[in-house]
Amino acid sequence: MTIKVLDAVVVAQIAAGEVVERPASVVKELVENALDAGATQITVEIRGSGTGLIRVADNGSGIPAGEVELAFERHATSKVSTPDDLNSISTLGFRGEALASIAAVAEADLLTCAAGEAMGTHLSLKDGQLAAKNGQARSQGTTVTVRNLFRSVPARLKFLKSVPTENSHTANVVSRYALAFPEVAFSLFLEGKPTLRTPGSGQLIAGVIEVYGIEIAKEMLEIKDSEDQWDSGQSIKVSGLVGTPAVSRTSRNYISFFVNRRWITSRQLTWAVEEAYHGLLMQDKHPVAVININLPPSEVDANVHPTKTEVKFVNEGAVFGAVQKAVRRTVLQQTPIPKIEDVAAAYKAAPAERPAFWTGNELTGTINRMPAAAQSEPRILPILRVLGQAVQNYIVAEGNDGLYIIDQHAAHERIRYEQVKEQRTRNKIEVQGLLEAATFEVTLPQAATLKSRLKDLAEFGFNLEAFGERTYLVRAVPAILNGRDWPAALREMLDGLASGDKTDWMERLVMSMACHSAVRAGQALSVDEMRELVRQLEETAMPRTCPHGRPTVLHLSLNQLSKEFGRT
Ligand code: ADP
Ligand code: MG
Repeated sequence: MTIKVLDAVVVAQIAAGEVVERPASVVKELVENALDAGATQITVEIRGSGTGLIRVADNGSGIPAGEVELAFERHATSKVSTPDDLNSISTLGFRGEALASIAAVAEADLLTCAAGEAMGTHLSLKDGQLAAKNGQARSQGTTVTVRNLFRSVPARLKFLKSVPTENSHTANVVSRYALAFPEVAFSLFLEGKPTLRTPGSGQLIAGVIEVYGIEIAKEMLEIKDSEDQWDSGQSIKVSGLVGTPAVSRTSRNYISFFVNRRWITSRQLTWAVEEAYHGLLMQDKHPVAVININLPPSEVDANVHPTKTEVKFVNEGAVFGAVQKAVRRTVLQQTPIPKIEDVAAAYKAAPAERPAFWTGNELTGTINRMPAAAQSEPRILPILRVLGQAVQNYIVAEGNDGLYIIDQHAAHERIRYEQVKEQRTRNKIEVQGLLEAATFEVTLPQAATLKSRLKDLAEFGFNLEAFGERTYLVRAVPAILNGRDWPAALREMLDGLASGDKTDWMERLVMSMACHSAVRAGQALSVDEMRELVRQLEETAMPRTCPHGRPTVLHLSLNQLSKEFGRT
């Protein structure tokens, strides 16, 4: 083939591909434009999964009649003019290519009326070319209608997924922006059905109720007073809502980040948030979080990708640190002891019904409702008096406000976990030499891993010596594991490494050590032993949950007792 310059239509379609990947990308660009125009009401309508029709209407500034055609030109924007402006972007749009891209791969219709203009302007584009223009009545604001998306680009059309999946992507975009802009009233209609409506009250929690439902909203904690000052004099503010450990999801999709109100995705920030929940959530569970990060525009570069969903921070470490600190503090300060009435209520209530649009595969996740209490409950334990042991599993105790039931294994796990961590920090792990060296067999891949970890293991009290290719001689073990199933603890740690689990392996080891050194369920305890266990639990930093995030204590309040016995 000879080299030739592509014609304008093909060029436009190629460029459009970077911005418009699927119907949800069109929705994202149009919603961002409406928000940039200062709209307080935005209505999104979708038919035929967005390949039939996408319509976004707003009550924003509108486009002056004289500029309407320019809006569809590539690199035409009212938001940036000098190179310097790019260093401090405060609008969601700035590349001036969304409308041009959309018009290159669909039929586009625009009806707009700017403030102070008596008449609106209507514009119709086909194949990126102006097809009609006339005056039309409209109140201030803009409506963009996009029809037959990708009809001229069959390759793209072929890659689209099922109607529910495409619609769930769209719902996802609208939901995120509804969370980012609680002062804006959003309405979303999917295939004629009202699917999301936010009040625009300015209250983030109101948005969370509409987007995630009341069950999750009840469990959200507010990030309070979190402003970090940097040496440079700049400051970063982290705000928003984070879920208690009682509400977790099986996917990471319920973690949202908004940087100067732009919805972004970031693996590092997600990781920072998950780390903040460390030891509070069960494995493979993820928190719910809506996190706003505000910092000087000069500290962020949003011009990383045409879709603007990723940003670069000048001072990455400081941003991740600030987010992690704010989330951790919020969760620890406000995580309450679960109450029995809440457990009962949780189980009585039918499973929370999700809005119809949460059907896309990556959006489904079950609410893992562990019990949790009113937010006023302190996270520390009250002084408890042990009454006895039930089914050789639970310690029953009395406190100033009713009964407390403690899971002996979970509670002891928490105690051990903190003990090991503390001893490790002080470099004072208690070691027990074995009278007779024991052998520990591993698989070949495990042997390789183990070899690289021998020194670290020694610091935890495991003295291992290679003895042939797949065998190790064990001469000493951590004292708390003496006489216990320490090979299981070692093996769990190795399995974790082999399965590619990213959790810090030391953390895993500490958790395994805690688990295998803790009293078992089914073990009879004397009153003295139980008292000692409760006393030690009271002294831990986080007595409420075991290291895996399960509760250690349930509370049956005096109130609840009177109610159940009909005394009130
Ligand atoms: P960008 O948002 O990057 O500037 P777009 O192609 O999305 O580029 O939009 C081009 C221009 O059209 C915007 O800069 C803005 O002036 C105008 N515009 C687009 N949508 C709207 C809207 N809903 N309300 C007011 N002005 C709009
Ligand atoms: Mg735009």
